[in-house]
Amino acid sequence: MSDGGDEKLSVEARLGLVAFTIDSEPHIRVNQDECRKCSLKQCLFVCPAKLYTEEEGEIKFNHEGCLECGTCRIACPKIDWNYPRGGFGAHYQYG
Ligand code: SF4
Ligand code: SF4
Repeated sequence: MSDGGDEKLSVEARLGLVAFTIDSEPHIRVNQDECRKCSLKQCLFVCPAKLYTEEEGEIKFNHEGCLECGTCRIACPKIDWNYPRGGFGAHYQYG
């Protein structure tokens, strides 16, 4: 039973606290020509929000739900990575 102040939240519960203002323009883009040549496809494994998927041999990226953590930017130098435009993107709530 919680004493009301120090209850630990699961990762899923913490992610549920993140609100998003979705931009129509993606702030991150993949280069399909580079992806076709890529053997590791590390983007599929590093994103904590699992926003990269592979469908029929093509890498798909869904910018909605991006936590702006920068992990994919470090994992793959071929990704065109930018922060969302002002006012868009993730809004973190800390309590
Ligand atoms: S790691 Fe980079 S180059 Fe490779 S498939 Fe993913 S986005 Fe494309
Ligand atoms: S910045 Fe983080 S959350 Fe956003 S796509 Fe890259 S790894 Fe995923």
